[in-house]
Amino acid sequence: MRVHLTAAAAAAVRRGHPWVYRDGIADGGGHGSKRGEGKRGERAPRGGGVAASGDVVELSAEGAPFLGRGLWDAESAIAVRVFQRTQARPLDERAIAERLERAFALRDGWFAGRDTTAYRLCNGEGDRVPSLVIDRYDRAAVIRLDGDMLAPWLDRLLPHLGRALGALGVRSIGLRARGPSASEDAEGKKLTHLHGPPLPDRLFVRETGIAMEVDLARGQKTGAFLDQRDNRARVRALAGGRRRVLNLFSYAGGFSVAAALGGADRVTSVDSASAAHASAQRTFRENGVDPAAHEFVTADAFDFLEKARARGDRYDLIICDPPSFAPSERAKPRALGAYRRLHAAVARVLDRGGVLCAASCSSHITAEDFLATLDDATLERDDLRIRAIHGQPEDHPTLPAWWEGRYLKFVVLE
Ligand code: SAH
Repeated sequence: MRVHLTAAAAAAVRRGHPWVYRDGIADGGGHGSKRGEGKRGERAPRGGGVAASGDVVELSAEGAPFLGRGLWDAESAIAVRVFQRTQARPLDERAIAERLERAFALRDGWFAGRDTTAYRLCNGEGDRVPSLVIDRYDRAAVIRLDGDMLAPWLDRLLPHLGRALGALGVRSIGLRARGPSASEDAEGKKLTHLHGPPLPDRLFVRETGIAMEVDLARGQKTGAFLDQRDNRARVRALAGGRRRVLNLFSYAGGFSVAAALGGADRVTSVDSASAAHASAQRTFRENGVDPAAHEFVTADAFDFLEKARARGDRYDLIICDPPSFAPSERAKPRALGAYRRLHAAVARVLDRGGVLCAASCSSHITAEDFLATLDDATLERDDLRIRAIHGQPEDHPTLPAWWEGRYLKFVVLE
């Protein structure tokens, strides 16, 4: 099956960008659909026959009879994810399994001496295995598929995965459903068992010496936000001697427990989900920290900040890691406004001499865009400097051309 690309899409593929949007297809499949809008791909690639999700397609363009090979997705806005740019070998399950083994081997030893049992074993596109994310939670591995193209390959990949993951000490493999409730079972679980003994709904993992409860069945992402691991360790190091720490959008309390163990007197965790606080408190106890010495507030973060300001509460370390405000390019102006309002409200409760850790997990907001929401005019103060700008940890690699993969910003201001 052959897919003929526009000049712009071909140039992106040559640079190593792993996605072809439907409007990057020169004939067939374009159909006027716009980037990011998830139109159905009712048109077939050129070459006869109708492609189904998971079919191997060969990419070509004007003057380039072979650009690469990828897998077709009949549903999502991304029509093809590109796996190969040379003709050296066929795109089959062996080729994919070898990429996976390389991703696993690259991580060999990274976490051995770091008291860490949860990390990303394969970061999809960033590990040159588009669509496939595998997170390790101790003896369990959870797979997430972006798009539909790899779903038909799973049965063939599982024996390889079972072997390669088994060699690392992973016993069970589960599949995490994408998207909201439609893909959950009657009990609200999003996890399907694929291989090995049944996966626990919840378990404790270790992260840089800290015990962390992870909810594999219902938690966010594949269970936890593994991408903040190094930043949680940074917060732990920053927390020594702090009197009052505020963790906004605290979820399962990863930053909170890091701050408490780092020596903060009192940590206030704010999240709109009370179930997240229950999990955070179990994590505190597992680490020998009494949750009663700290504060867990179920509230909207904006409301909380307004009330805290009115009460005159001040904090000397604040972590602010909201959910993505910009799921698409179109949402960007609104998102920047929301970050500005949030940061202005945060600055009003940050002590002079305090530290602010502000994060954004939206790839549509660049580091410069994000820093503009932390400038003096927004914060209405002139005492803060950027101490550091961090991003994703090394188990979340990206590609030079794949800017969408570099989503995480973690700015430390003091
Ligand atoms: N910082 C966390 C991840 C945050 S995920 C970590 O490192 O693990 C985003 C969290 O924000 C979710 O737990 C969600 O319940 C919460 N949330 C979303 N909107 C909110 C709001 N308006 N106010 C408070 N919490 C909110």
